Amino acid sequence: MKGLKARKCKHCGEQFKPTNGRQIYCKAKKCSRERKYKYWLAYIQEWKKRRPTYYVDYLRKWRARNPSYWKEWRRKNPGWFKAWYRKRRLRALQDRQAQLMAKA
Ligand SMILES: [Zn+2]
Repeated sequence: MKGLKARKCKHCGEQFKPTNGRQIYCKAKKCSRERKYKYWLAYIQEWKKRRPTYYVDYLRKWRARNPSYWKEWRRKNPGWFKAWYRKRRLRALQDRQAQLMAKA
């Protein structure tokens, strides 16, 4: 593409010709991998930011729709929710760790 000046790759520091204005990494394999990794990190951060409220909102709405059912259910199943939540968090942590190991 014409009009775009050669620039330095953000990862390896080599000069390259960008094909669009936002390109900051060159086409080398390690650099495109770095770019994907950065995208993935940003995605995970976004997910971490959004997920809790998404989840809490969902539960709140559901509870509002089924007020007595929820109350009853919790009375009948003490501790279940806590255990489930802990398990879920542990699994998420393990998944993230596995992903990180795969990338390293
Ligand atoms: Zn590069």
